[in-house]
Amino acid sequence: MYWDKDIETMSRERLDALQLMKLKDSLQKASSSCYYKKLFEKTGFSPDHVMSLSDMGKIPFTTKDDLREHWPYGFLAVPKTELVRMHSSSGTTGRATVIFHTAADIDAWADIVARSMYSTGMRKHDVFQNMMTYGLFTGGLGFHYGAERLGALVIPAGAGNSRRQIRIMRDFETTIIHIIPSYALHLYSIFEESGVDPKTDTKLRIAFIGAEPHSVRTRDKIEALYGLKAFNSYGLSEMNGPGVAFECEAQAGMHIWEDHFFIEIIDPETMQPVPDGEEGELVMTTLMREGMPLLRYRTGDVTRIVAQPCSCGRSHKRIERIKGRTDDMMIIKGVNIFPVQVEKILMDIPGVGMNFLIILEREGYDDVMHIKVEVRRDLFTGNVKQLESLRRRIVEELKSDILITPKVELVEHDSLFRSEGKAVRVIDNRKE
Ligand code: ADP
Ligand code: ZN
Repeated sequence: MYWDKDIETMSRERLDALQLMKLKDSLQKASSSCYYKKLFEKTGFSPDHVMSLSDMGKIPFTTKDDLREHWPYGFLAVPKTELVRMHSSSGTTGRATVIFHTAADIDAWADIVARSMYSTGMRKHDVFQNMMTYGLFTGGLGFHYGAERLGALVIPAGAGNSRRQIRIMRDFETTIIHIIPSYALHLYSIFEESGVDPKTDTKLRIAFIGAEPHSVRTRDKIEALYGLKAFNSYGLSEMNGPGVAFECEAQAGMHIWEDHFFIEIIDPETMQPVPDGEEGELVMTTLMREGMPLLRYRTGDVTRIVAQPCSCGRSHKRIERIKGRTDDMMIIKGVNIFPVQVEKILMDIPGVGMNFLIILEREGYDDVMHIKVEVRRDLFTGNVKQLESLRRRIVEELKSDILITPKVELVEHDSLFRSEGKAVRVIDNRKE
C-alpha cells in the first residue's frame, strides 16, 4: 500500500504497541535460524525475556562480521524452498553479505519503497528512470518493484552509459530519476557537453539520491543544476535495501518506517543507547522479515534522531542525513573527520567542480591530508592568480572547519577517477 494514513500517521502509543507485537513475532522467527538458535543458547537469551520495548537491550547485537562468518545460509529462518530472491551488499567494506527473501518479504519491501516514493510527491502518472545497477545490488530491483507497485511507468535503464541515459530521458519524457549523487554531478557535465540543459530540455521534476553519504550542499547543487527536487534515500541490503528511510516532501530528515524496522542509536564505544537527538551508530531490527530476520543489526552508519514531529503529519521517526560509516571516519593528527565534512565545505565554494579525492599520507611522524579538487571547466583555462586565490580559499575554509591544514591541489574538470557506483572519497596511504 503506497499511502496508508492509518499506519503512517499512527500515534506513538499505537506504534509502540504495534512494534512490540511485531518484535515478539520477529524474535520467534529468528529463533528458528541456525545462527540465532545457537546464539540464544550461548547467551541464555530467550524471546520471552522481551516484555516491553525497554527490554530491547537484552537482545544481543548482530554485526556484518556475524553475517560474513555464517555465510551464506546460516541466518535463514525458513526452509530454502520458501525463498524467492537473493541480494547482496556492494562489498564496500569487505566481503559482500547476502540476504534472502521470501515472496512476502519482496512484497513488503515493494510496499515501503512505494510508500517512500509517494511521500515525496511521486504519483502514478510519473515516468521513472532507474539509473542504478540491476542485479545483486538492491538499488536496481528494490526501486523497480516499488515504482511498479505505485503504478508509475518504470524504465529499467540501469547504470552508466550517460549519453544513452540522457537520450532516454528526453525520448520518453522521464519525470523522476534514481541516481547516485556523485554520478548526478558527473552526468551534468555530459549534459553540458551534449548541449542539453536538463532544466529546460527535459521533464525531470524529482530525483531520488542515495546509496552514499552526501552533504546538503551536494543536494542543493543537484537541485539547482537539474531544476528539480532531490530526496535523500537511505537503505542497506541487510535491511532490504532502499525504502528503509526516505525524505518526505518536507525534506527535513528521513522517515524510518517503524512498522517494518525498530531503530536505536547507540554509542559505538559503550554500545548503550544515546538520548534522542544525539549522534551515534544506527542499530536496526527487522519487524516484518520472514526469510532472514536480523536483530539489533549494527549498521555502522552515523546519524541522529530528529526529535520534532514532521510537518507532513507522518509520525514515524526521522533520522538526519547519514554522516558516514564508523569505518569512514579519518583520524588525522588526532582529529576525527568524515569525508562528507570536507565535501560540504568544498561544494559551498564557487568555482569548485564536481569531484574531489582525499589522500592521506604519513610524512615523517606527521599525518598529511592532500586533497585534489576538480575545478570548473572555465576556470582551469583562466588566469593563474584566480586559481591560486581559489586554492587558498579552499585551504582556509577547510582549516577553519576541520582544524587541519590540508595540502590542496586543483585539478582539471572530470580528471579524477570516478567509480561506476559509490564514489571513492579517500585513499589512505598511511597504512603499511
Ligand atoms: P555496502 O555496505 O557494501 O556499501 P550496500 O549496498 O548495502 O552495501 O550499502 C549500504 C550502505 O550504503 C549503508 O550502510 C550506508 O553506509 C550507505 N548509504 C546508503 N544510502 C545512503 C544515504 N542516503 N546516505 C548515506 N549513506 C548511504
Ligand atoms: Zn515528513
